[in-house]
Amino acid sequence: MDHVRALKCLICGREYRPDEIEYVCPLHGDQGIVDVQYDYASIAGRISPRTLAKDRDYTIWRYRPLLPIEPTSPVPPLSVGWTPLYRAGRLAAGLGLEHVWVKDDGRQPSASFKDRASAIAVVKGRERKARIIATASTGNAAAALAALCASVSQPNVIFVPESAPPAKIAQLLVFGSTVILVRGSYDDAFALCGQACQEFGWYNRNTGYNPYMSEGKKTAALEICEQLGWDAPDRIFVSVGDGCIIGGLHKGLRDLTALGWIGRMPKLMGVQAAGSAALYDAWKNGTAASDMAPIHARTVADSISADLPADRIKALAAVRETGGAYIKVSDDDILAAIPALARGAGVFAEPAGAAAYAGLAKAVAESLVDPSERIVVLATGNGLKDIASARKSVGEPYVVDKDLADVRRIVDEASLQQSIGVE
Ligand SMILES: *Cc1c(COP(=O)(O)O)cnc(C)c1O
Ligand SMILES: [Zn+2]
Repeated sequence: MDHVRALKCLICGREYRPDEIEYVCPLHGDQGIVDVQYDYASIAGRISPRTLAKDRDYTIWRYRPLLPIEPTSPVPPLSVGWTPLYRAGRLAAGLGLEHVWVKDDGRQPSASFKDRASAIAVVKGRERKARIIATASTGNAAAALAALCASVSQPNVIFVPESAPPAKIAQLLVFGSTVILVRGSYDDAFALCGQACQEFGWYNRNTGYNPYMSEGKKTAALEICEQLGWDAPDRIFVSVGDGCIIGGLHKGLRDLTALGWIGRMPKLMGVQAAGSAALYDAWKNGTAASDMAPIHARTVADSISADLPADRIKALAAVRETGGAYIKVSDDDILAAIPALARGAGVFAEPAGAAAYAGLAKAVAESLVDPSERIVVLATGNGLKDIASARKSVGEPYVVDKDLADVRRIVDEASLQQSIGVE
């Protein structure tokens, strides 16, 4: 990996060679999150907007020179990345804005954003010749690891809280992972997975511990800028749990700035559930990441439920250094955002995905955004992941006997003929 200069501790600034440490800075233990440092001059010789314009590989691997993997490492066959960026004119108009795009990461192989990181975990694990790759997850990181491991026949062990939505647990079992349901929170599953990896020598994919996960997640920022013709948006709204996605987006944008491919840094807008708002509170109160204390997280948006966000250093820096903001939204706002996003843009997101849109609506209500700004909303997970929450967010269907008269009553009651006429 000639293009990776060092792994830099975000607490003490000490730099390590990539072969010197596996995960964190040894001086700071589990807290010592490191950031991958690149040699941009060498990268610029291998990739540019011009070469990308001719590249037909529409997956995250089109950015391979910007990823922390060996040039010759095989990559999994599943098609990860290059998810659609839809212009959402009706959503924009409804909010009084001019330019809104929705990036649908529910369209990934395992139906969430996490495939971007788990794809890198599989490549790194196999570079290390790991017999087993393991992760703790609220569900989606696990489903992503399960799918990507299945695609290359890689044994893996998954720790998820017992409360994870059934669809996510079903994914794990179908892909053939060894699934361990933990009677406890996500944070408990995270700690147990770490202990097991140490005890049994497994490769640990845990978010905010494995330094390469934010490198996979940064590909969304690279895609957004390329899909917008390298004219970076003004703001990106994303929901935040552990903070790895928002930290990854920041990293991708910093890469593009260092390479000179974009001219301005978008403001990163982190959206948290009111019941899981440790980063919102820290940002609001000016608390340092190292002084944050665990809360007791509870929210309908299971994917962004975290007591002490594992990637808090990167997540706070992402918002502070880009002049963005943290926003918190209630569970009711999140549920209401599911049909609003689906009906306004045709994108069905799970609660954590729709939360980003709820955050945009709140930011508009609080006049935090200018109507002329170019805004991207990341829909991070597919609505089919959590049907119970989706059903809570909408009304009930009509039920009829096998009788056209019943249908006629519904047509009248729902004023269907009139509304079709208006269209
Ligand atoms: C994991 C996840 C998030 C939050 O990502 P973090 O890196 O934990 O902040 C948001 N939405 C969905 C659907 C996720 O799976
Ligand atoms: Zn350190």
